[in-house]
Amino acid sequence: MFDNLSDKLDKALHVLKGHGSITEVNVAETLKEVRRALLDADVNFKTAKEFTNTVKEKALGQNVLTTLQPGQLMVKLVKDELTELMGGETAGINLSGTPSVILMSGLQGSGKTTFSGKLANYLKTKKTKKPLLVACDIYRPAAINQLHVVGDQIGVEVYSEPENKNPVQIAQNAIAHAKQNGFNVVIVDTAGRLAIDEAMMTEIANVHKAINPQETLFVVDAMTGQDAVNTAKAFNHRLNFDGVVLTKLDGDTRGGAAISIKSVVDKPIKFIGTGEKMDAIDVFHPARMADRILG
Ligand code: GDP
Repeated sequence: MFDNLSDKLDKALHVLKGHGSITEVNVAETLKEVRRALLDADVNFKTAKEFTNTVKEKALGQNVLTTLQPGQLMVKLVKDELTELMGGETAGINLSGTPSVILMSGLQGSGKTTFSGKLANYLKTKKTKKPLLVACDIYRPAAINQLHVVGDQIGVEVYSEPENKNPVQIAQNAIAHAKQNGFNVVIVDTAGRLAIDEAMMTEIANVHKAINPQETLFVVDAMTGQDAVNTAKAFNHRLNFDGVVLTKLDGDTRGGAAISIKSVVDKPIKFIGTGEKMDAIDVFHPARMADRILG
Protein backbone atom coordinates (compact mmCIF):
# COMPACT_ATOMS: atom_id res chain seq x y z
CA MET A 1 0.00 0.00 0.00
CA PHE A 2 1.11 3.53 -0.79
CA ASP A 3 3.76 1.93 -2.96
CA ASN A 4 3.68 4.79 -5.31
CA LEU A 5 4.31 7.56 -2.86
CA SER A 6 6.45 5.50 -0.57
CA ASP A 7 8.74 4.34 -3.35
CA LYS A 8 9.12 7.79 -4.74
CA LEU A 9 9.86 9.43 -1.44
CA ASP A 10 12.24 6.64 -0.63
CA LYS A 11 14.05 7.27 -3.87
CA ALA A 12 13.99 11.00 -3.31
CA LEU A 13 15.33 10.72 0.20
CA HIS A 14 17.79 7.97 -0.58
CA VAL A 15 20.38 10.46 -1.66
CA LEU A 16 20.22 12.03 1.78
CA LYS A 17 19.86 8.96 3.95
CA GLY A 18 23.06 8.13 5.76
CA HIS A 19 25.17 10.62 3.85
CA GLY A 20 27.55 12.51 6.05
CA SER A 21 27.40 15.71 4.11
CA ILE A 22 24.99 17.05 1.55
CA THR A 23 24.84 20.20 -0.48
CA GLU A 24 22.15 22.78 -0.91
CA VAL A 25 21.62 21.38 -4.40
CA ASN A 26 20.92 17.95 -2.88
CA VAL A 27 18.30 19.47 -0.61
CA ALA A 28 16.62 21.39 -3.41
CA GLU A 29 16.57 18.37 -5.71
CA THR A 30 15.22 16.11 -3.03
CA LEU A 31 12.46 18.51 -2.12
CA LYS A 32 11.54 18.73 -5.78
CA GLU A 33 11.25 14.95 -5.85
CA VAL A 34 9.23 14.97 -2.63
CA ARG A 35 6.86 17.48 -4.19
CA ARG A 36 6.54 15.41 -7.34
CA ALA A 37 5.81 12.30 -5.28
CA LEU A 38 3.12 14.13 -3.33
CA LEU A 39 1.53 15.39 -6.54
CA ASP A 40 1.57 11.88 -7.98
CA ALA A 41 -0.18 10.68 -4.85
CA ASP A 42 -3.01 13.14 -5.52
CA VAL A 43 -1.99 15.76 -3.02
CA ASN A 44 -3.09 19.03 -4.55
CA PHE A 45 -0.50 21.41 -5.94
CA LYS A 46 -0.87 24.15 -3.38
CA THR A 47 -0.55 21.76 -0.44
CA ALA A 48 2.48 20.03 -1.94
CA LYS A 49 4.18 23.33 -2.65
CA GLU A 50 3.52 24.68 0.81
CA PHE A 51 4.75 21.44 2.27
CA THR A 52 8.12 21.52 0.57
CA ASN A 53 8.53 25.23 1.27
CA THR A 54 7.94 24.64 4.97
CA VAL A 55 10.40 21.76 5.06
CA LYS A 56 12.97 23.88 3.23
CA GLU A 57 12.57 26.78 5.65
CA LYS A 58 12.91 24.47 8.62
CA ALA A 59 15.94 22.80 7.10
CA LEU A 60 17.61 26.16 6.58
CA GLY A 61 16.53 27.36 10.02
CA GLN A 62 18.14 24.36 11.63
CA ASN A 63 21.27 24.68 9.52
CA VAL A 64 20.76 21.16 8.30
CA LEU A 65 23.80 21.24 6.08
CA THR A 66 26.16 21.83 8.96
CA THR A 67 24.82 19.04 11.18
CA LEU A 68 26.52 15.69 11.56
CA GLN A 69 23.85 13.66 9.80
CA PRO A 70 21.99 16.05 7.55
CA GLY A 71 20.29 13.28 5.58
CA GLN A 72 18.64 11.80 8.63
CA LEU A 73 17.60 15.20 9.87
CA MET A 74 15.98 15.93 6.52
CA VAL A 75 14.10 12.63 6.63
CA LYS A 76 12.89 13.53 10.11
CA LEU A 77 11.81 16.99 8.98
CA VAL A 78 9.85 15.54 6.08
CA LYS A 79 8.23 12.94 8.33
CA ASP A 80 7.35 15.44 11.06
CA GLU A 81 5.90 17.87 8.59
CA LEU A 82 3.84 15.16 6.92
CA THR A 83 2.52 14.17 10.34
CA GLU A 84 1.65 17.78 11.07
CA LEU A 85 -0.06 18.12 7.72
CA MET A 86 -2.34 15.21 8.61
CA GLY A 87 -3.31 16.77 11.92
CA GLY A 88 -0.41 15.95 14.23
CA GLU A 89 -2.31 14.25 17.02
CA THR A 90 -4.97 11.56 17.00
CA ALA A 91 -8.41 13.16 17.20
CA GLY A 92 -11.11 11.52 19.31
CA ILE A 93 -14.88 11.62 18.87
CA ASN A 94 -17.33 13.45 21.08
CA LEU A 95 -19.39 11.00 23.11
CA SER A 96 -20.70 13.49 25.62
CA GLY A 97 -24.41 13.47 24.82
CA THR A 98 -27.17 11.39 26.42
CA PRO A 99 -27.38 9.79 24.03
CA SER A 100 -24.48 10.96 21.86
CA VAL A 101 -25.66 11.21 18.30
CA ILE A 102 -23.28 10.47 15.44
CA LEU A 103 -24.38 11.34 11.90
CA MET A 104 -22.75 9.64 8.93
CA SER A 105 -22.45 11.48 5.65
CA GLY A 106 -20.88 10.66 2.31
CA LEU A 107 -21.53 9.34 -1.16
CA GLN A 108 -23.13 5.99 -1.89
CA GLY A 109 -20.47 3.30 -1.96
CA SER A 110 -18.06 5.25 0.22
CA GLY A 111 -18.49 2.70 3.00
CA LYS A 112 -20.95 4.50 5.30
CA THR A 113 -23.07 1.50 6.20
CA THR A 114 -20.06 -0.73 6.73
CA PHE A 115 -18.38 1.93 8.84
CA SER A 116 -21.54 2.55 10.88
CA GLY A 117 -21.42 -1.12 11.84
CA LYS A 118 -17.70 -1.02 12.53
CA LEU A 119 -18.06 2.04 14.74
CA ALA A 120 -20.96 0.51 16.68
CA ASN A 121 -18.91 -2.62 17.19
CA TYR A 122 -15.83 -0.61 18.20
CA LEU A 123 -17.76 1.48 20.72
CA LYS A 124 -19.49 -1.56 22.14
CA THR A 125 -16.32 -3.55 22.67
CA LYS A 126 -13.65 -0.90 23.28
CA LYS A 127 -15.65 1.78 25.05
CA THR A 128 -18.40 -0.34 26.63
CA LYS A 129 -21.14 1.76 25.10
CA LYS A 130 -24.63 0.68 24.13
CA PRO A 131 -25.06 1.84 20.53
CA LEU A 132 -28.19 1.94 18.38
CA LEU A 133 -27.86 1.91 14.59
CA VAL A 134 -30.40 3.91 12.58
CA ALA A 135 -31.28 3.30 8.92
CA CYS A 136 -32.18 6.63 7.35
CA ASP A 137 -31.92 5.68 3.69
CA ILE A 138 -35.47 6.13 2.41
CA TYR A 139 -34.65 5.35 -1.22
CA ARG A 140 -33.05 1.95 -1.19
CA PRO A 141 -34.78 -0.80 0.80
CA ALA A 142 -31.61 -2.83 0.22
CA ALA A 143 -29.67 -0.28 2.25
CA ILE A 144 -31.99 -0.78 5.23
CA ASN A 145 -31.59 -4.54 4.92
CA GLN A 146 -27.83 -4.18 4.69
CA LEU A 147 -27.75 -2.32 7.99
CA HIS A 148 -29.93 -5.00 9.60
CA VAL A 149 -27.50 -7.66 8.39
CA VAL A 150 -24.61 -5.68 9.85
CA GLY A 151 -26.49 -5.16 13.14
CA ASP A 152 -27.23 -8.90 13.44
CA GLN A 153 -23.60 -9.67 12.78
CA ILE A 154 -22.34 -7.52 15.65
CA GLY A 155 -25.31 -7.90 17.97
CA VAL A 156 -26.42 -4.27 17.81
CA GLU A 157 -30.06 -3.21 17.47
CA VAL A 158 -31.03 -1.44 14.24
CA TYR A 159 -33.86 1.10 14.21
CA SER A 160 -35.72 1.48 10.92
CA GLU A 161 -39.12 2.57 9.64
CA PRO A 162 -39.34 1.08 6.15
CA GLU A 163 -42.69 2.76 5.42
CA ASN A 164 -41.64 6.23 6.53
CA LYS A 165 -40.25 8.49 3.79
CA ASN A 166 -39.21 11.29 6.11
CA PRO A 167 -35.59 10.87 7.26
CA VAL A 168 -35.84 13.73 9.77
CA GLN A 169 -38.73 12.00 11.50
CA ILE A 170 -37.01 8.61 11.44
CA ALA A 171 -33.88 10.08 13.04
CA GLN A 172 -35.89 11.92 15.69
CA ASN A 173 -37.98 8.83 16.47
CA ALA A 174 -34.80 6.77 16.73
CA ILE A 175 -33.31 9.18 19.27
CA ALA A 176 -36.54 9.03 21.32
CA HIS A 177 -36.37 5.23 21.11
CA ALA A 178 -32.75 5.32 22.30
CA LYS A 179 -33.64 7.51 25.28
CA GLN A 180 -36.48 5.24 26.29
CA ASN A 181 -34.42 2.09 25.98
CA GLY A 182 -31.09 3.03 27.49
CA PHE A 183 -28.97 3.37 24.35
CA ASN A 184 -26.19 5.91 24.93
CA VAL A 185 -24.89 6.23 21.37
CA VAL A 186 -27.05 6.67 18.27
CA ILE A 187 -25.35 6.15 14.90
CA VAL A 188 -27.41 7.52 12.03
CA ASP A 189 -26.60 6.06 8.62
CA THR A 190 -27.94 8.32 5.87
CA ALA A 191 -28.74 7.95 2.19
CA GLY A 192 -25.90 8.52 -0.22
CA ARG A 193 -26.00 9.27 -3.92
CA LEU A 194 -23.46 8.37 -6.52
CA ALA A 195 -22.65 12.04 -7.02
CA ILE A 196 -23.33 15.17 -5.05
CA ASP A 197 -26.75 16.61 -5.79
CA GLU A 198 -28.72 19.39 -4.27
CA ALA A 199 -31.61 17.21 -3.07
CA MET A 200 -29.27 14.93 -1.16
CA MET A 201 -27.41 17.82 0.40
CA THR A 202 -30.63 19.51 1.47
CA GLU A 203 -31.95 16.28 2.93
CA ILE A 204 -28.88 15.54 5.03
CA ALA A 205 -28.59 19.19 6.04
CA ASN A 206 -32.19 18.99 7.30
CA VAL A 207 -31.46 15.83 9.30
CA HIS A 208 -28.33 17.48 10.68
CA LYS A 209 -30.24 20.57 11.77
CA ALA A 210 -33.07 18.60 13.34
CA ILE A 211 -31.00 16.19 15.43
CA ASN A 212 -28.00 18.43 16.14
CA PRO A 213 -25.48 15.57 16.40
CA GLN A 214 -22.47 15.63 18.72
CA GLU A 215 -20.41 14.26 15.89
CA THR A 216 -20.90 14.47 12.13
CA LEU A 217 -18.53 12.23 10.24
CA PHE A 218 -17.79 12.40 6.54
CA VAL A 219 -16.99 8.99 5.08
CA VAL A 220 -14.86 8.88 1.96
CA ASP A 221 -13.31 6.18 -0.17
CA ALA A 222 -9.54 6.72 -0.11
CA MET A 223 -9.28 5.27 -3.58
CA THR A 224 -11.14 8.16 -5.17
CA GLY A 225 -8.10 10.45 -5.08
CA GLN A 226 -8.67 14.07 -5.99
CA ASP A 227 -12.44 13.49 -6.21
CA ALA A 228 -12.35 12.70 -2.50
CA VAL A 229 -11.17 16.24 -1.87
CA ASN A 230 -13.95 17.81 -3.93
CA THR A 231 -16.59 15.67 -2.24
CA ALA A 232 -15.18 16.57 1.17
CA LYS A 233 -15.37 20.26 0.29
CA ALA A 234 -19.01 20.00 -0.80
CA PHE A 235 -20.11 18.11 2.31
CA ASN A 236 -18.13 20.35 4.62
CA HIS A 237 -19.71 23.41 3.05
CA ARG A 238 -23.20 22.13 3.92
CA LEU A 239 -22.57 20.27 7.17
CA ASN A 240 -19.43 21.73 8.66
CA PHE A 241 -18.61 18.17 9.71
CA ASP A 242 -16.38 17.27 12.66
CA GLY A 243 -14.18 14.61 11.19
CA VAL A 244 -13.33 12.37 8.29
CA VAL A 245 -13.38 8.60 7.95
CA LEU A 246 -11.05 7.33 5.26
CA THR A 247 -12.19 3.91 4.06
CA LYS A 248 -10.64 1.24 1.86
CA LEU A 249 -7.09 1.95 2.94
CA ASP A 250 -6.44 -1.76 2.60
CA GLY A 251 -6.64 -1.56 -1.18
CA ASP A 252 -4.22 -0.22 -3.70
CA THR A 253 -4.80 3.28 -2.44
CA ARG A 254 -2.93 6.52 -2.72
CA GLY A 255 -2.19 8.18 0.57
CA GLY A 256 -2.63 11.61 -0.92
CA ALA A 257 -6.32 11.72 -0.03
CA ALA A 258 -5.50 11.85 3.67
CA ILE A 259 -3.09 14.72 3.21
CA SER A 260 -5.22 16.76 0.82
CA ILE A 261 -8.53 16.39 2.64
CA LYS A 262 -7.03 17.51 5.91
CA SER A 263 -5.36 20.51 4.36
CA VAL A 264 -8.33 21.56 2.21
CA VAL A 265 -11.20 21.26 4.72
CA ASP A 266 -9.05 21.51 7.85
CA LYS A 267 -10.94 18.78 9.67
CA PRO A 268 -9.20 15.87 11.35
CA ILE A 269 -9.25 12.37 9.96
CA LYS A 270 -10.59 10.36 12.89
CA PHE A 271 -10.88 6.77 11.71
CA ILE A 272 -9.73 4.58 8.89
CA GLY A 273 -11.36 1.53 7.33
CA THR A 274 -9.00 -1.26 6.42
CA GLY A 275 -11.26 -4.01 5.11
CA GLU A 276 -14.80 -5.26 4.74
CA LYS A 277 -15.01 -7.06 8.08
CA MET A 278 -16.51 -5.47 11.18
CA ASP A 279 -13.19 -5.30 13.02
CA ALA A 280 -11.35 -3.60 10.15
CA ILE A 281 -11.43 -0.19 11.81
CA ASP A 282 -8.60 1.85 13.26
CA VAL A 283 -8.20 5.20 14.93
CA PHE A 284 -6.25 7.43 12.55
CA HIS A 285 -2.67 8.04 13.68
CA PRO A 286 -1.01 10.83 11.66
CA ALA A 287 2.53 9.80 12.63
CA ARG A 288 1.90 6.16 11.72
CA MET A 289 0.44 7.20 8.41
CA ALA A 290 3.45 9.42 7.71
CA ASP A 291 5.73 6.49 8.51
CA ARG A 292 3.76 4.29 6.20
CA ILE A 293 3.83 6.84 3.40
CA LEU A 294 7.54 7.38 3.73
CA GLY A 295 8.41 3.69 4.13
P1 GDP B 1 -22.33 3.01 1.54
O1 GDP B 1 -23.12 3.00 0.26
O2 GDP B 1 -21.61 4.31 1.72
O3 GDP B 1 -23.15 2.66 2.73
O4 GDP B 1 -21.17 1.92 1.37
P2 GDP B 1 -21.09 0.43 1.91
O5 GDP B 1 -20.88 0.39 3.36
O6 GDP B 1 -22.24 -0.37 1.36
O7 GDP B 1 -19.73 -0.04 1.22
C1 GDP B 1 -19.58 -0.17 -0.19
C2 GDP B 1 -18.65 -1.33 -0.49
O8 GDP B 1 -17.36 -1.05 0.02
C3 GDP B 1 -19.09 -2.63 0.17
O9 GDP B 1 -18.86 -3.70 -0.72
C4 GDP B 1 -18.17 -2.75 1.39
O10 GDP B 1 -17.94 -4.09 1.76
C5 GDP B 1 -16.90 -2.09 0.88
N1 GDP B 1 -16.09 -1.48 1.96
C6 GDP B 1 -16.47 -0.61 2.92
N2 GDP B 1 -15.43 -0.24 3.69
C7 GDP B 1 -14.35 -0.90 3.21
C8 GDP B 1 -12.95 -0.95 3.59
O11 GDP B 1 -12.46 -0.29 4.52
N3 GDP B 1 -12.14 -1.75 2.83
C9 GDP B 1 -12.63 -2.49 1.78
N4 GDP B 1 -11.78 -3.24 1.10
N5 GDP B 1 -13.92 -2.46 1.41
C10 GDP B 1 -14.77 -1.68 2.11
